[in-house]
Amino acid sequence: MGREQRSGERTLSIIKPDGVSKGVIGEVIRRFEKEGIRVVALKMLHLTKRQAEGFYVVHRERPFFPSLTDFMSSGPIVVMVLEGDDVIARNRTIMGATDPKKADSGTIRADFAGNIEQNIVHGSDAPETAAMEIDYFFSKLDIM
Ligand code: GDP
Repeated sequence: MGREQRSGERTLSIIKPDGVSKGVIGEVIRRFEKEGIRVVALKMLHLTKRQAEGFYVVHRERPFFPSLTDFMSSGPIVVMVLEGDDVIARNRTIMGATDPKKADSGTIRADFAGNIEQNIVHGSDAPETAAMEIDYFFSKLDIM
């Protein structure tokens, strides 16, 4: 039996430490899958502070960088590669705005996030960042 041909874009999704501790891993993945988005790689890990700083290096000059990287290294996270047509933009719509107070109702952040920092999920914002972020966590061999 041959492998299925899969069209579509890829993006990196993270369920942040607050999402894992609130017990919404399954709910977050369900929201992706019900939109026809495929999970093509997935693992749980606990970032070191240094690894969190490496991931968020573009934000290193921001005042919230120390707090953000403390938060991201505070507990286990789930990292996933999502695949589907237009998945970068569709994932960001499903996530909602960075600040949950501004997020549309029915989005992950509106439904579960506590504040602008502890906002349950991460999603790449463009094809170039998606490629870099996927590479940060996964080797080619890890992606189905
Ligand atoms: P995203 O693409 O929606 O995740 O937002 P950004 O790329 O702008 O920011 C990255 C992450 O930094 C966000 O998801 C938040 O966890 C955090 N963050 C963004 N803006 C702020 C802020 O003003 N204050 C704090 N404390 N954290 C922020």
